[in-house]
Amino acid sequence: MKAELVKLSAEHPDPEVIRRAGSILKKGGLVAFPTETVYGLGADALDPAASRRIYAAKGRPSDNPLIVHIADINDLSYLVKDIPEKALALSKAFWPGPLTMIFEKSEIVPKETTGGLDSVAVRFPSNKIAQELILAGGRYIAAPSANRSGSPSPTTAEHVAEDLGDSIDMILDGGESDVGLESTIVDFTEEIPVVLRPGYISLSMLQQVLGEVRMDQGLISDDSSVHPKAPGMKYRHYAPRADLIVVEGEEEAVVSAIIRMAREAVKRGELPGIIATEETFSRYQEGLVQCIGSRQDEESIARHLYHVLRSFDDSKASVIYSEAFYTPRMGQAIMNRLLKAAGHKVIQAKEEEE
Ligand code: AMP
Ligand code: MG
Repeated sequence: MKAELVKLSAEHPDPEVIRRAGSILKKGGLVAFPTETVYGLGADALDPAASRRIYAAKGRPSDNPLIVHIADINDLSYLVKDIPEKALALSKAFWPGPLTMIFEKSEIVPKETTGGLDSVAVRFPSNKIAQELILAGGRYIAAPSANRSGSPSPTTAEHVAEDLGDSIDMILDGGESDVGLESTIVDFTEEIPVVLRPGYISLSMLQQVLGEVRMDQGLISDDSSVHPKAPGMKYRHYAPRADLIVVEGEEEAVVSAIIRMAREAVKRGELPGIIATEETFSRYQEGLVQCIGSRQDEESIARHLYHVLRSFDDSKASVIYSEAFYTPRMGQAIMNRLLKAAGHKVIQAKEEEE
């Protein structure tokens, strides 16, 4: 099967295409579509066979649950047992948008969709193509990121075609994703809400609405026996083919360390990849240098991260050195993904390298 790829206007998606894509979903098929975070691989969330098709197409471990997407806040109560007051407040603040919330599931949601769990993750995306497709496809659409399991999430329709073009029915192309990182996940099945995955909506933005909220210990603990609560967060993820190494420290020391390591790689006859920023790009004279964005505009760094990681897969780069991006608001989310992509290989650049 070769997926049909259709370009759509982000503001005025062609209703005929949406209708056709919706009917594929209603029949149990798979349609990839743009959202403001990354591209999603959609299937009818209430149809166990359709959910199983998602796992098969992605090569996703069956214990890694899917997020159910809605496009009308009134549809939430159908999927969940109870909506805590605080979750309602959070939905008013950030829906539609890059926020996923976890609740106890209702009987209607099959365990094939929730990876066997009694809870369900729900999101209301702001992307117009996504919203119209969800409504046309039966209102409850399971949609993980539309990549092969383990590789960087797709932020363009071309990325989806590369990974899944042979195993799904249709790809809706709505241009490059705005945010570029997956949604923030907040778990409401515990007394105090817990962040299971950092994203565009930061901890302090959540605190302003919720008051008390904590980070999942599995995300921040140095103790490797403490596992993340979101099953998906324990897997190697987002990894480019080449070895990726993150270099941390003061900017000058980081640049000097990367220049030195790149030079050594070139001497060994290898092609090193480098992930730089607009501020440092021109400092690197050797290797394959990619600019991820500007430190003055952290959203540009988030938006380009997966694109840059994927770009090295088409090159001969054998090792990639990346600067670290502990930016003020999205730094936690960006570094969560980058460190996972690197398999937590980190080098501390020392002052004396300056
Ligand atoms: P993706 O669909 O690729 O964005 O990944 C969805 C993420 O949400 C994964 O890390 C899942 O483990 C997590 N997730 C989805 N549903 C649940 C749930 N019911 N409980 C905990 N984590 C969940
Ligand atoms: Mg994913």
